[in-house]
Amino acid sequence: MITPHNELIANAAYIGTPGKGILAADESTGTIGKRLASIKVENVESNRRALRELLFCTPNALQYLSGAILFEETLYQKSSSGKPFVEILKEGGVLPGIKVDKGTVELPGTNGETTTQGLDGLAQRCQQYYSAGARFAKWRAVLKIGPTEPSQLAINENANGLARYAIICQENGLVPIVEPEILVDGPHSIEKCADVTERVLAACYKALNDHHVLLEGTLLKPNMVTPGSEAKKVAPEVVAEYTVRALQRTVPAAVPAIVFLSGGQSEEEATLNLNAMNKLKGKKPWNLSFSFGRALQQSTLKTWAGKEENIPKAEAAFLARCKANSEATLGIYKGDAAKGEGVSESLHVKDYKY
Ligand code: 13P
Repeated sequence: MITPHNELIANAAYIGTPGKGILAADESTGTIGKRLASIKVENVESNRRALRELLFCTPNALQYLSGAILFEETLYQKSSSGKPFVEILKEGGVLPGIKVDKGTVELPGTNGETTTQGLDGLAQRCQQYYSAGARFAKWRAVLKIGPTEPSQLAINENANGLARYAIICQENGLVPIVEPEILVDGPHSIEKCADVTERVLAACYKALNDHHVLLEGTLLKPNMVTPGSEAKKVAPEVVAEYTVRALQRTVPAAVPAIVFLSGGQSEEEATLNLNAMNKLKGKKPWNLSFSFGRALQQSTLKTWAGKEENIPKAEAAFLARCKANSEATLGIYKGDAAKGEGVSESLHVKDYKY
């Protein structure tokens, strides 16, 4: 029997299918404008549509994806041949998802910490998005590491906001991706990042439980545990060990899959770190996969540069990243996508807005 709960559980499990992951293509109009500006392309509807068409219509790429997160505008857009993007994704076995948060605002009295907005009217929006074909949602909470950050206020406020968002999504048929992103900005050590990640995730799961969220019908989208952007990098095996241990300590086994954000890592770095986690022996009751934005799109964007004649090359770049990340979810990536142009370039932007 298909009950609302069964649908949530089935869709969350599907997104977590080994060998597949999520393309995060939900940049807001402002954020996509910055990407387009970097290749000197004007931020108008037709160009935003063209970029998304390039991603969704790359031959053979959708086999490596189980979900694609869209911004509201894209949910209702069509390809140049007139087919709704939602249909193209569904036919390719990719569930359409939708960003439902409305960005961050500062928490007064803190050192620039934030909370995420978007709870007002969320139930109605979820219903509209479900009718338009969306089956999962994303809400990004942002925390930062500093001498006294994250504060307990920021941890509690963001955990509670994520839990309210998650239960509202579930009541309206959408699988919530719970995303408490701890920014990489700063000179901190990997140990510090591990400690903060554990505290934040523990608070999130306490709040999700308090709000009666069905964990089997959710996904977690965390940062990987790494040293800060101004500290020396460590090997993928070290990132893997710290990250998996933080997750073992805090994420219930009922959660079907954990889909990492790339958070400013280069394309290749993000893939190698994910691969190392899946190679690591030990208890991992959830699938470990990707929900990359920058680390799936950057070399494609650069190769395309807004020019029709570059589309085949740009499609090849996107296919290479999708395949590499698919292999990384299975721990069998051999590094053969490392030669692509720009794939090792850092994509870090301080205080990144999505
Ligand atoms: P990055 O992979 O570029 O960090 O973005 C993923 C995302 O969706 C952040 O909300």
